[in-house]
Order: sequence, then structure tokens, then C-alpha cells
Amino acid sequence: MTHQPIVMMDSDEAASIKTVTGWVSRDGFFFGDNEHAARYAGATHRWCSGGCGSAVPKNALTICNACHRLKRTERFMALPIEPWNGEPLCVFDDDTYFFDGDVDAIAEWAEEHEIQPDAMQLVKCAAVYAEEVDPGDIYADEIPEDGEVPAYVGDAFAALNEALRKKTTPICWRAADIRVDITDLVMARIAEARSA
Ligand SMILES: [Zn+2]
Repeated sequence: MTHQPIVMMDSDEAASIKTVTGWVSRDGFFFGDNEHAARYAGATHRWCSGGCGSAVPKNALTICNACHRLKRTERFMALPIEPWNGEPLCVFDDDTYFFDGDVDAIAEWAEEHEIQPDAMQLVKCAAVYAEEVDPGDIYADEIPEDGEVPAYVGDAFAALNEALRKKTTPICWRAADIRVDITDLVMARIAEARSA
């Protein structure tokens, strides 16, 4: 047993006046020696992390829109380029997809969003197929240790996996890190549409 000393509220030991130094935010909160936290609390804006020297609202952004676009373009241009053979396409870093090799739809989208054909950032899509399933994983919680699923269940999974291995139709498409440049095709379609 440790004996806690008894300290009366009106004793000199209980409390004393001390002068403390520390960071205080603009809105009056004390942060001790945590200058960064005090500055964050007291500020409304911070410098754009893109290095352009503009101020961005501290709660919403770390990078301004112009720098964000620039960085995205740099990432896009760093991707390998391949010729387009009509595969599904996707706008880089965006959820816009174009299926069926429909150049008209792409031309329309570019016009609607006031994007010049040579500024479209399109990447190929990769097909995603349903993965094979392992009954040992699916029923891992139910199967006894070192046990197996009954033969009829194993057979059913084997038949299912055989069908899945055929990869007849993708279950979805996902953006691939391969860019395509179809500026000329889209320009031609826009010109055609205007002359019609
Ligand atoms: Zn910036």
C-alpha cells in the first residue's frame, strides 16, 4: 500500500501562480510548445503544396486546382502509350468510361466539357474477370481444422471454377496505365459533324 499524501486545497502546495510560455492560436487556444498545431488552428489558409505560391483554404485542400491539373497531366504523360484498337477507354483519373469504340461519344463528351481533343487524357481499360473461388476460403470458419468440404460441394466449386476460367465476359472494366492518343480521330468526327 502506498500512502497518498493529504494536500489541502488552501495549502501552498496545492497550487501556485506560475508564468508559462507557449503558443496561442489566433482564436485564443493554448498549445504549449506545439507551434504547428497553434498555427494550424489560427490560420484559414496555407500555401499550395504544388509550390505555385498561391493560398488554399486549409480545411479543404493542400494543393490548388491549377497545380492539381498540372500534376495529373505529368502523371498521365509519364504513362506508356499504345495505339488504339477500339478497346474500351476511360478518362484518366476519372470515372468516365467509353465502351464500344464509339468515337462520336468521345467527341461529344469533349465538346460538352469544353476539352480540346488534344487535351483529352484517355487511357485503355483492362477487363476484370470473376475470380475463381476456393471452398476452403469461403467456408474457412465452418470447416473443422484439417477438414475438407464434402465431395459434392468440392465438385460444384470445381465446375464453377472451370466455367470462370473460360473468361467469356468481363464482370467490369478498370482503367489501365496505358494512354492512347486519338486526337486525330476525334478532330475528324467533330469536323464531320460541323459540316453535316
Ligand atoms: Zn498551386
